[in-house]
Amino acid sequence: MSLFAAVAMAPRDPILGLNEQFNADPNPSKVNLGVGVYYDDNGKLPLLACVAAAEAQMQAAPKPRGYLPIDGIAAYDSAVQGLVFGADSEVLKAKRVATVQALGGTGGLKIGADFLKRLNPGATVLISDPSWENHRALFTNAGFPVETYPYYDAANRGIHFDGMLGALNAAAAGTVVVLHACCHNPTGYDLTPAQWAQVVEVVKAKGLVAFLDMAYQGFGEGIAEDGAVIQQFLAAGLDFFVSTSFSKSFSLYGERVGALSVVCASAEEATKVLSQLKIVIRTNYSNPPTHGAQVVATVLSTPALRAQWEEELAGMRVRIKQMREALVAELKAAGITDDLSYVIRQKGMFSYSGLSAEQMQRLRTEFGVYGVDSGRICVAALNSKNLKPVAAAIAAVKR
Ligand code: PLP
Repeated sequence: MSLFAAVAMAPRDPILGLNEQFNADPNPSKVNLGVGVYYDDNGKLPLLACVAAAEAQMQAAPKPRGYLPIDGIAAYDSAVQGLVFGADSEVLKAKRVATVQALGGTGGLKIGADFLKRLNPGATVLISDPSWENHRALFTNAGFPVETYPYYDAANRGIHFDGMLGALNAAAAGTVVVLHACCHNPTGYDLTPAQWAQVVEVVKAKGLVAFLDMAYQGFGEGIAEDGAVIQQFLAAGLDFFVSTSFSKSFSLYGERVGALSVVCASAEEATKVLSQLKIVIRTNYSNPPTHGAQVVATVLSTPALRAQWEEELAGMRVRIKQMREALVAELKAAGITDDLSYVIRQKGMFSYSGLSAEQMQRLRTEFGVYGVDSGRICVAALNSKNLKPVAAAIAAVKR
């Protein structure tokens, strides 16, 4: 009997499986809308000019690659704090936030999950229904029972807000609630500021633990607008978690640049929390890598590069919005009379298109247009060349 004879085959990642299917498709006009990646109008992954400039600066003065501190580059951590909480934020002045560099947004979530498990081993985690597919797996693997709160309202093409609030109201104190700070993945539907205010109120009243996942800051309405929910949680005087990802906003997917910030009641608590986050990191991968965080720290702390980044980020955001509008216009031109305004209301890279699994399968097999069976399409993978054929294919399966 070999050591691994009893090992079962793990299920394939559904989206990676879709990519494999896409790569194997010989159709020359195939389009991949299954990905969670921003492509430019030429269908290429962008290398931001601010990133290239920061890298050129770094190359001009190369540094030896020693180990980083366990919590990462100090200048990076403080740049993240400025971006997430606002540079003049009272919590930062009071040193009430513990921030650590992490391996992407996923790494930030995982460090937070492991720390929470030590803090409150009996807690349940609530994620939105539906949510980014890795939320459930990540918190389950960290040892938590994971349940859902209602989120998507298919019939009304929006958010089942009463259901969401009801579930939060019914949750036990200490329950961890994972919330998408902006650009909800996969639906594209975000709460309004007034709805967020109600969520904050329930989180406070019921003693829940908010874990805000901010993977798309700047992809929805703007850096400050997308981060506005953080200000609402701060104003309520809550302790909470925020994971940050720069994969999308800096187009630095493979560099694994992210962070975890924990807002605490005092500087003393923040120091203790930081010491515990460092143990989690130390016992997982010891300390983070240098390159990506150095790039982001350089861009965020150099005024000219920062301005360039904000412009390039705005360019991505505006292009996505244009693609939403153009898709709706093309579908209308193709004779689709449904009210498609929801596609324009949605924020970020994704759209819950409202198409059924069967329609999504037809898009793949008959037209070479690949999206997720849930109906999720990546609007950020549309461009001026593939838009018309994609719209024609969608119109055909909707008829
Ligand atoms: N959280 C959400 C909601 C996401 O959509 C993603 C990426 O798709 C992540 C976290 C992970 O980001 P990263 O690639 O930086 O780990």
